[in-house]
Amino acid sequence: MRLERRRREPKTFCPNCGAPLRDALTHLQCPSCGYAKLTPAGKSDAERKLLAGLNKLLANGHGDTVAVTFRKLARAAPLKNVEIAYARAQWRKILPAEVAVNGSRWFQARKESERIIYKRIRAEVGA
Ligand SMILES: [Zn+2]
Repeated sequence: MRLERRRREPKTFCPNCGAPLRDALTHLQCPSCGYAKLTPAGKSDAERKLLAGLNKLLANGHGDTVAVTFRKLARAAPLKNVEIAYARAQWRKILPAEVAVNGSRWFQARKESERIIYKRIRAEVGA
């Protein structure tokens, strides 16, 4: 019974070569040509990394404006090969409009095709 549960039926086939994809939890992998595709769990991992990268960039940013690019994100939070295509396509949607890092709040001031400009919301201290 336990054996039966462990045996996974391939859900999809490789779009390149038609071989059944192997389920590796975070991604489905083609054993014959190397094609790989993220599963929902793998997508969540990639999203967590992008957010961690954003936090790092904002925490280390100088001044009140930080330009976030995919390259910088990927450098701040290294992505696995299989995660890169998904993250590159989705990072602009995944990054939050507003985020708190080390007690500062940041918001997306401008969204360009290659970068997102985050600005720090100045804390109103006293009055
Ligand atoms: Zn294949």
